[in-house]
Amino acid sequence: MGSKIAFTFREQLDGTIGGDHHNYCLQCGACVAGCPAARYSEDFNPRTILLKTLLGQEEELIGADSVIWLCTNCYTCYERCPQDVRPIEVIIALKNMAAERGVLPDEVNKFAEMISSRGHSAVLSESVNRRREKLGLDPIPRVPVEELTAILADPEEGEVPSGGGAGEVLEPLGSKAGSQEGPGKVRPEKRAGVEKKPSKKASGGKASAKKVGRKKPRTTKRSNR
Ligand code: SF4
Ligand code: SF4
Repeated sequence: MGSKIAFTFREQLDGTIGGDHHNYCLQCGACVAGCPAARYSEDFNPRTILLKTLLGQEEELIGADSVIWLCTNCYTCYERCPQDVRPIEVIIALKNMAAERGVLPDEVNKFAEMISSRGHSAVLSESVNRRREKLGLDPIPRVPVEELTAILADPEEGEVPSGGGAGEVLEPLGSKAGSQEGPGKVRPEKRAGVEKKPSKKASGGKASAKKVGRKKPRTTKRSNR
């Protein structure tokens, strides 16, 4: 017979947000057809990633050199999958497992550090806003980093700072305090509303088909890969 299934790893994946849907993959290959990363690299294939999750092939999936890091997070596979597996969310779960174990590519680590320290994954200077202004675009909002730091902190230890709480207005990059209306700003009542609502990702996107009755799988044209 073929390889043994490592259920311990699958249980760990089940316990990671977005990971439990891997159980529903029927290996149809529909997710591969529109995947830009699969077009770019012969090594990347969401169907085979899902196969490896079903087999519990931890060494193949968790590591700085794993193919999972080639995923562009485009969500095409989410739309294509007839089984509501949400391959992208399984891949994100795998990435989170890798990050928890400290095995992620240096570049990804640098992006994460930039986001936690600056709120953006790239360095944004005033020249960016000047160019945006010429193009008729709003200034980039300044991210309240202290609030982000509190969110990213260990929930046991993290505290929302008094000066950067939910009611504070986002200011455009480089702006001085001013009116609460205008380009690049978000009104406090809007922000408060947003924080009360769980995000699509946090709530698992679509209504959970697993818990409340899964949607009926559609018949779909199979990919050759
Ligand atoms: S489309 Fe869905 S069911 Fe089909 S191989 Fe991809 S993840 Fe599995
Ligand atoms: S989210 Fe990732 S796996 Fe899914 S289609 Fe896009 S690149 Fe491919």
